[in-house]
Amino acid sequence: MKRDTICVQGGYRPKNGEPRQIPIIQSTTFKYDTSEDMGKLFDLEASGYFYTRLQNPTNDAVAAKICELEGGTAAMLTSSGQAANFYAVFNIANCGDHVVASAEIYGGTYNLFAVTMKKMGIEFTFVPVDATEEELNAAFRPNTKAVFGETIANPALSVLDIERFAKAAHAHGVPLIVDNTFATPINCRPFEWGADIVTHSTTKYMDGHGAALGGCIVDSGKFDWNRYAEKFPGLCSPDASYHGITYTERFGKEGAFITKATAQLMRDFGSMQSPQNAFLLNLGLESLHVRMKKHCENGQKVAEYLSGHPRVSWVRYCGLKGDKYHKLAEKYLPNGSCGVVSFGVKGGRKAAEAFMKHLKVASIVTHVADARTCCLHPASATHRQMSDEELVAAGITPELVRFSCGLEDAEDLIADIDHAFRAIAEER
Ligand SMILES: *Cc1c(COP(=O)(O)O)cnc(C)c1O
Repeated sequence: MKRDTICVQGGYRPKNGEPRQIPIIQSTTFKYDTSEDMGKLFDLEASGYFYTRLQNPTNDAVAAKICELEGGTAAMLTSSGQAANFYAVFNIANCGDHVVASAEIYGGTYNLFAVTMKKMGIEFTFVPVDATEEELNAAFRPNTKAVFGETIANPALSVLDIERFAKAAHAHGVPLIVDNTFATPINCRPFEWGADIVTHSTTKYMDGHGAALGGCIVDSGKFDWNRYAEKFPGLCSPDASYHGITYTERFGKEGAFITKATAQLMRDFGSMQSPQNAFLLNLGLESLHVRMKKHCENGQKVAEYLSGHPRVSWVRYCGLKGDKYHKLAEKYLPNGSCGVVSFGVKGGRKAAEAFMKHLKVASIVTHVADARTCCLHPASATHRQMSDEELVAAGITPELVRFSCGLEDAEDLIADIDHAFRAIAEER
């Protein structure tokens, strides 16, 4: 089926007389006739539900829809995008391991990698998103287990050259993990370009209404773990906590990654998405294809307006012809990128903050990729833990405003921006 149809109907096929809408299975636990039946589930010998910390039917239906949208073989929901990225990496990298990541990534992910996972003994090397093949190859070590990047970086809005990153990852026998939050599978399917694992903060466009926090991990099923079995003992050798089953043997390369992440990481860390949130997420997914078009249309109009504005020092939006990432966007995002535009306000940090406080249609929120237009000053919010040098490496400057175009009329958004610029001009 085509993407639009999957958005509406994917993941859940009711049988005769069953509810048309995905039911919310609001139950922590599931009943069995015998202890033997239940034992089989605990041994991963049978598939089924026993406790919502591991799996829940509502969540599975919604994960299956996202899996179909991305063209993967298996998927799981998590309680947030943070949990998705943590699980995706920690599922294959242990204490003493190393990961190569693009420097232009979401601030929360940067903290997770550079601070928290470092404490767990996992080292990250951050490479420029524009790194050449040689620079990329030089970042690898014998203990490197994965490469990580974002299709469209939040908030730097650079476009990842997925093929180049995938090539480098595969040359070193490791998978490429791509956070596809901003593009969504409507505008880019990273698996088609060589990515192996895709992650999402479903909190953003997928939900799209600022209603429910969530995340998702999808496996392409293409990475041949067994070929590099010595690098991935967690997937390719017996798991003592499940009577010595080997994930790649039992579930194949199509199912090993997600089964291990569910059976071990979800079991032990418990970052489950609530079935209520999965239901809300599915409502968002039903209109994702319709909404993404409008977000992109508004993003393009606002970016074009800003690029002609005398109080704007620069605009970053890959839909603009002159944009540094326009060529990559034509390749990877031919139908549009997203609704988020970054730009610099002349006058630096102070002017950026002053501009934002005069906006009336757009509101200042941490959130992004929402039906309502929202904006943020990353240097004083999401990225405030970073030093000036780290900010520059992450593609964020003090005057940067992240403007996330919602689903309103573009003329109202432009009038709002125009009004805010006039107001700061009067203040001077
Ligand atoms: C927001 C975001 C995250 C984190 O997701 P949460 O749902 O807020 O935990 C990760 N990656 C990207 C690209 C994001 O925009």
